[in-house]
Amino acid sequence: MRTTAAQRRHFTRRLLTWFARAARDLPWRRTRDPYRVLVSEVMLQQTQVSRVREYYPRFLERFPDLRSLARAKPRAVREAWDGLGYYARARNLHQLAKRVAGRGVTDKGVAGDSVAELPEDPEELIKLPGIGRYTAGAVASFAYEKPVPAVDTNVARVLSRVFFGNSRQRLSGNRQRRIWSLAAALIPKDGKRAWKFNQALMELGALVCVARKPKCAQCPVRPDCKTGRAP
Ligand code: SF4
Repeated sequence: MRTTAAQRRHFTRRLLTWFARAARDLPWRRTRDPYRVLVSEVMLQQTQVSRVREYYPRFLERFPDLRSLARAKPRAVREAWDGLGYYARARNLHQLAKRVAGRGVTDKGVAGDSVAELPEDPEELIKLPGIGRYTAGAVASFAYEKPVPAVDTNVARVLSRVFFGNSRQRLSGNRQRRIWSLAAALIPKDGKRAWKFNQALMELGALVCVARKPKCAQCPVRPDCKTGRAP
């Protein structure tokens, strides 16, 4: 399905206007620190926002940067994650920290002057433990303000409903590929605007275009939507 430049423009304008008014104030939206963005994204993968709000500051207080996480004992990481579930996420995060900040880290602490930075390029990020295509795009966009797409379940659902008129929950591999291409075509070229666009799509999927009963009557992009505007 092809979209015209005008359709894309209208959709983006309505979405961003709504986001400016309706966005929740979430702690990970107030930072561009790549490590902090990454921690929030990993926590949010399988956990509700309200729970992440509680655990996120606690985890960061204990491990404020990649180096401190890289130095930590597995048991300490597990303790800090306890209650969030899906512990494999914490194990991968720990592995990632060791890989990125690990040069010069010993059991006794950090030795030397190693650089502890996450890469900016999604193609590099995706090579790190526990990072999939979505998380790579999210870190590149939310930390580094790169104009790249970040398509999670919420975003895929919104784009599928708006542009394909499809309200099915499960999307085929082919449809997933088309959604990523569409997201890449929609993403504003300016990094700050791209940050807002990705956040706004997720917010719409979380608050309005929810999985079970989408709130079409209050949806800002209803005029552009092939599903919500149908009689
Ligand atoms: S109009 Fe309805 S289906 Fe379309 S994006 Fe909005 S909430 Fe989702």
